[in-house]
Amino acid sequence: MNWTLVIHGGCGAMQPDKLPPEQEERARAGLAAALDAGGAILAAGGSSLDAVEAAARVLEEDTAFNAGRGSVLTAQGHAELDAAIMDGRNRRAGAVAGLRTTRAPVSAARAAMEHSPHVLLTYDQADRFAEAQGLEQVTNDWFMIPERRAQLEAVMASGGKVDTVMKYGTIGAVACDVDGHVAAATSTGGLTAKRWGRIGDSPLIGAGTYADDRSAAVSATGLGEAFIRAVAGHELAARMRLSDETLQQALDAVLADVVSLGGTGGLIAVAPSGEAAWGFTTPGMYRARAAAGAREIAVYSEPARR
Ligand code: ASP
Repeated sequence: MNWTLVIHGGCGAMQPDKLPPEQEERARAGLAAALDAGGAILAAGGSSLDAVEAAARVLEEDTAFNAGRGSVLTAQGHAELDAAIMDGRNRRAGAVAGLRTTRAPVSAARAAMEHSPHVLLTYDQADRFAEAQGLEQVTNDWFMIPERRAQLEAVMASGGKVDTVMKYGTIGAVACDVDGHVAAATSTGGLTAKRWGRIGDSPLIGAGTYADDRSAAVSATGLGEAFIRAVAGHELAARMRLSDETLQQALDAVLADVVSLGGTGGLIAVAPSGEAAWGFTTPGMYRARAAAGAREIAVYSEPARR
């Protein structure tokens, strides 16, 4: 069968007249590079798990997105990184939250899945685990870029209220390989000015990240608190397993539920049939998809693909 890869670089208030063209170009180039990395693996018959990790790593390294290098900052001025990965074949999953020194959070999540008896590892002990697994460690400064510092200062100047106003830049990837297995990965710096050890939906299996060969692989971006309460990833997968909805219908229903909880955001999903869908409730979402011989990169609100 054909393979499918869908990725996102977060959603937000991007509009053609408001987003600086160079920022759009940077994001589009980053999405294209991530499609190249994940698509090459899938085209060679590789696994969806390897593909989503490879695509996520490219986006983590790209400062255009709020994940890895270029992550948003906590109220204390640190980068604290969350990531998760899940294998639809067996529902094995790994996640990390509150990392401060591990360069590739998504690979730390994969190491947690493959080399620990646990699913979710947090804070400095998670960094120590990643280090022991041979994953590169950097200083926290390495993740920081001036733009994020300025964003934090603006939020703090306006009272330090967590930035929930549509500046999400989390990255995610979902894929279906030629064997019909699905996988999902998500990585993020979370929300600007987050505090008290806040952890969002991205590293929570079933909320921001989920994959199950019986239904779908899902990655979310948006106001994490709402996606956690909606258990968005699992809800989408459950609808696919237990109802007659198409993937797009299930995705739209979950987004409507997120909105009913006061959230905004977006979702990408693939089914083991290779069917793909995306949707978002913000003006734009950095997103892209590829299959053998086809590729699409989009930013603004255009008719969703079905
Ligand atoms: N969902 C992420 C979180 O709440 C934020 C984002 O999508 O940018 O941590």
